[in-house]
Amino acid sequence: MLEQLAKAIKLGLLVHAYLLIGDKSKMLEEALETAMAVNCLFPVGGYACGECLACRKIRYGNHPDVVIVEPRGASLKIDQIREVQRAISFKHFEGRYKIVILLDANKMTLEAANSLLKVLEEPPSGTLFILIAENGDNILPTVLSRCQAVKAGRKDTNMCGDMGNDNRWHEQMRGLIEQLPSIDLHQLLKISDSWNKNRDNVRSILEYLLVWLRDIAVAKISRNDSLLFNPSVFETVVNSDIKAETAVRAALEVQNCQRQIEQNANAKLVLDVLLMKLQRLIRLEERYGESRRCEV
Ligand SMILES: [Zn+2]
Repeated sequence: MLEQLAKAIKLGLLVHAYLLIGDKSKMLEEALETAMAVNCLFPVGGYACGECLACRKIRYGNHPDVVIVEPRGASLKIDQIREVQRAISFKHFEGRYKIVILLDANKMTLEAANSLLKVLEEPPSGTLFILIAENGDNILPTVLSRCQAVKAGRKDTNMCGDMGNDNRWHEQMRGLIEQLPSIDLHQLLKISDSWNKNRDNVRSILEYLLVWLRDIAVAKISRNDSLLFNPSVFETVVNSDIKAETAVRAALEVQNCQRQIEQNANAKLVLDVLLMKLQRLIRLEERYGESRRCEV
């Protein structure tokens, strides 16, 4: 079983959604072992016993609290996500957790992904989602940002590293936070120009920025990489120049900006203002240092 998941179960730090990246049948096995570990009647150190009734039912595919969904035809469709929603709205039958395993999660239609996103935003308690995909391409960043990604065969796990060009995002976010306090208005407006290519791009960037700021705050407060959306960047975010408090304030500004974009505000204007606010927050922090009087 994947070490990161066993560790999370043992420490009681399981998040409600994981994305397992790798070979489909191997990852399904991992997902089932995870389902066993959380519902096992006699678990040991985060691992399932493999022998009890719950473990055996899960292994033979007849545990009522484990739902496996795979594409009907070429894609995972919204109807299937609705069926999942119905299934998890019922009380648990036997297990402590309801487990929803989504195979080929990268084959979700846009409607299905948006519908899943709503569930992931307000997950019913005691429900564990395990998405499985051969790679993270074609999964909406908004969905990605709500899952903790685990890659097979590596201790080093992350949300978007090694997925297409997404390492680029880490660099971009790290660079932005580092440079923001020292750039002038002209450079700042050029950044918002480059972000404002289209609405999807704006959405993705804001989502990544939010995740990045959240990880800075969580890393600095908890010093625990397993709590990050993106554990592989732990060293970078924990050593970031900005304080947890500033990261939280900045994240709230990003969320505010996301709301405005969803309400069809002028994206360029909203981004300009956001960058100016973030710049001010970081500059104020630098100026006041430890006194923490960084009013906006
Ligand atoms: Zn067991």
